[in-house]
Amino acid sequence: MASTTPNIIIAIDGYSSSGKSTMARALAKSIGYRYIDSGAMYRAVTLYAMRHGMISDSGVVDIDKLVSALPDIEIDFAVGHEGQHTLLNGEDVEKQIRQMDVSSNVSPVAAIPQVRRALVAIQQALGKDKRIVMDGRDIGTVVFPDAELKIFVDAPARTRAERRYNELLQKGEPVSFEEVLDNVVSRDHIDETRKESPLRRADDAIALDNSDMSLQQQNDWLLSRFNEVVSTI
Ligand code: C5P
Repeated sequence: MASTTPNIIIAIDGYSSSGKSTMARALAKSIGYRYIDSGAMYRAVTLYAMRHGMISDSGVVDIDKLVSALPDIEIDFAVGHEGQHTLLNGEDVEKQIRQMDVSSNVSPVAAIPQVRRALVAIQQALGKDKRIVMDGRDIGTVVFPDAELKIFVDAPARTRAERRYNELLQKGEPVSFEEVLDNVVSRDHIDETRKESPLRRADDAIALDNSDMSLQQQNDWLLSRFNEVVSTI
């Protein structure tokens, strides 16, 4: 199937912890496309900033320092045992970037225009030959405005926070449900209200509320949307 499917770009955007990465990864696997989690790139830059003392305990980012350090930050992806791993200057940081401290600091970092421009350029280069599924907040609006298939995923904040909380519990992270809910709500707010490429549904994106869908139903739904698009090409 992989070699005969047409080359398209699939952009999956949506709110925090809406399950878009899980769907995107599953689709990429079943159609033989590359999967890129653009949020992992913003998380890796955030981890770098935290490690280099560029974010205060109260969450204030030293924007000038971070912007000057951008040329020193190299982000890559490697395929590991359990899927894709994010590399920060060659170090596998997949586990660290998923922790709560990074989640708490990432949205202010992602609101910095220079950070966005640098990462958008990398994302666009990754998609130059198409055959890619990328998820994020601005993939259908800014990174790939001409993507052949665009999806926008949403579900109520409480439902999303419950999913994220269960995921973190399984990983053994000591968090409270309230902390996770606050993080989801505050990231949504910062992402939606920032000046540079705010989170919004592209006019031509298909909206999906996956609150009452199983993983299998979501994967089937997405594969059907893909098949519909490729049948017209
Ligand atoms: O997708 P994930 O929740 O891991 O993304 C982490 C954060 O990175 C988001 O809350 C958002 O602030 C930022 N982000 C972004 N644009 C993207 C992907 C993620 O601003 N394309």
